[in-house]
Amino acid sequence: MIIKNKALCNKCKDIIESKHVHDFVSCKCGAISVDGGRDYLKRGAKDWNDLIDLSEETEEPPKPGKTIKEEKSEKEGFKWLVNGSWK
Ligand SMILES: [Zn+2]
Repeated sequence: MIIKNKALCNKCKDIIESKHVHDFVSCKCGAISVDGGRDYLKRGAKDWNDLIDLSEETEEPPKPGKTIKEEKSEKEGFKWLVNGSWK
């Protein structure tokens, strides 16, 4: 279970948190984004090195069907990672 859906931007040092399922939040400089609230962890970044994950989850075995999904968006090089392992 997700407690905090949070990330830190390495570029602007902004800490962003998605509090609801459709709470899409970007950092000040726009390099990273989080989405999904407590439902799922969705991360967006142009460069994964800019994103430091600060999310907290309770220790629970991962649900079957948990998949790593990487998408490329239309926006230049902006990648999304949903429920993946970015640690
Ligand atoms: Zn930033």
